[in-house]
Amino acid sequence: MKRRGAVPRVLLAALASPGGTCYRHCNRPIRTRRVPSRLPGALFVRACPSGVVSVSVYFEWTRRDPSRSLQSALERWTTPRSLVRWRDLRLATRHGPELGRTAERFLASAHPGRGVRAVYWRVYPFRARDGTERRLFVCLRRSHPHPVFFAASPQATKWECPTCSRRQARRTLRSSG
Ligand SMILES: [Zn+2]
Ligand SMILES: [Zn+2]
Repeated sequence: MKRRGAVPRVLLAALASPGGTCYRHCNRPIRTRRVPSRLPGALFVRACPSGVVSVSVYFEWTRRDPSRSLQSALERWTTPRSLVRWRDLRLATRHGPELGRTAERFLASAHPGRGVRAVYWRVYPFRARDGTERRLFVCLRRSHPHPVFFAASPQATKWECPTCSRRQARRTLRSSG
């Protein structure tokens, strides 16, 4: 059984994002990864090899606006949660023609007709209180049950994922105690 709102494979293929390189950071190619979540649709994170996020996109095949449910999921996954701002979430509806013939035919056969909802979450580079630049990073370690988003300096030399550091601290404590 497909989950309500799940995006059929044929549409996901058509929605797959283009390439691109990491803007104002390392210029390396950006990878799009689908990340696990309990949301009914499909969530993709586009990030460079160092984890700097260019954009996250959530697709759901529905007529409702899924922005609020995406927002609360992102708030659970982001440190600090104030990084998730309503105005950084943008809703769009993708229709058949722009997705290519196969997807168009598929969408046309759906009753009642509907497009695919896409919610984009983009956090632009910003300045911390001390004036240094911060970027949104993501940690996609398989041991984390969900993506972990956090802000860090693009020049940071150590990995600042809060979940990884917590685990590291616990290990250190155990080995010294
Ligand atoms: Zn980069
Ligand atoms: Zn981590």
